[in-house]
Amino acid sequence: MVFNNIDFDTYFKNYPNEDGYFGKYGGAYVSPELKKAMKEITEAYFTICKSRKFIDELRRIRREFQGRPTPISHLERLSNKLGNVQIYAKREDLNHTGAHKLNHCMGEALLAKYMGKKKVIAETGAGQHGVALATAAAYFGLECDIYMGSVDIKKQAPNVARMKILGANVVEVTHGLQTLKEAVDAAFDAYCKGYKDAIYCIGSVVGPHPFPMMVRDFQSVVGIEARDQFTKMTGELPDAIVACLGGGSNAAGFFAGFLNDPVDIYGIEPLGRGTTLGDHAASLQYGEEGVMHGFNSIMLKDENGDPAPVYSVASGLDYPSSGPEHAFLHELGRVNYDVIGDDDTIDAFFELSRLEGIIPAIESSHAVAYAMKLAKKMGKGSILVNLSGRGDKDMDYVIEKYGIR
Ligand SMILES: *Cc1c(COP(=O)(O)O)cnc(C)c1O
Repeated sequence: MVFNNIDFDTYFKNYPNEDGYFGKYGGAYVSPELKKAMKEITEAYFTICKSRKFIDELRRIRREFQGRPTPISHLERLSNKLGNVQIYAKREDLNHTGAHKLNHCMGEALLAKYMGKKKVIAETGAGQHGVALATAAAYFGLECDIYMGSVDIKKQAPNVARMKILGANVVEVTHGLQTLKEAVDAAFDAYCKGYKDAIYCIGSVVGPHPFPMMVRDFQSVVGIEARDQFTKMTGELPDAIVACLGGGSNAAGFFAGFLNDPVDIYGIEPLGRGTTLGDHAASLQYGEEGVMHGFNSIMLKDENGDPAPVYSVASGLDYPSSGPEHAFLHELGRVNYDVIGDDDTIDAFFELSRLEGIIPAIESSHAVAYAMKLAKKMGKGSILVNLSGRGDKDMDYVIEKYGIR
């Protein structure tokens, strides 16, 4: 399919290019030292991802450890309540550890093992990426250092406990605001010093090349499975697909299965409390071009041009940028990027729980809320939503802040 002069038949061969660019977005804006390390990872990845042994091992792990393929569920009661559009969900909440993140963590850890590394390093904010990576490290017998700000360590006690039980070393970062930004800096520092024995595992389709490409490729299992399952189930393609967007990994993997199809694609950013800078994390909607965390993309900046403070009710979505591929697909117009606020999101959290017996992650509830709106607008047809994770981690917070709706 050709769209806006881009041939999507050959899209994955051409994007990113060998320097890691999707159009003008992407690249690797890092120190010469780290550039060497990124090059080593890129070369290893290109060799390994063509190797039968690597592919077979990853397939076996997905089947026997992660519980893939995850099913698609027809949300009949929700669909009936809204009208004639049939809504379906790809159930990444049923992936081991309860979200899509394990898809790329298992890939990254397997790559680390093939490269002969002894350790995986990452930062975490809410702890979801840390838990997924600690799980992967335990599976492969790798050491695991997770950098986390003191403030987040206090806020996210259950995830800190999970990481420790899984054998990870949670490194407390005590300087600055003691949250995600400082944790990223500390983890990068540690990686620069120890990259001969370790690999840095980024938690989304962000960071320097090759991570946006590699994480998308590892997550594309979601979209490829979903396309196959949906066509078998209904005899046709969905009319529209919807995913939520933090850094953009669950969306990138889900969209990858459908970019070459006549399907309307929606990527949904958190509008939080409203359109004022600091009240949302809708970077593609309100941001501008800039470089952060080693890549060029669209980002929310403060008056000094630094990454702006952002907010979302979903801690997995409050990131001031999106992966470079999303900036590119936005510019092309191949994907419709839109927003949904906290209030609609919490309504959707309860609707899906009550009508379908599925408690979604607040992140995923953004996609569900948007699909509910879209269903009313479309009037007929079908929508497939990527349910990126389950909501157990969010229950206490929702009840405390919103009560039972
Ligand atoms: C982390 C997370 C997200 C956001 O990350 P992406 O890279 O944008 O996918 C979405 N949903 C869940 C359940 C998460 O844990």
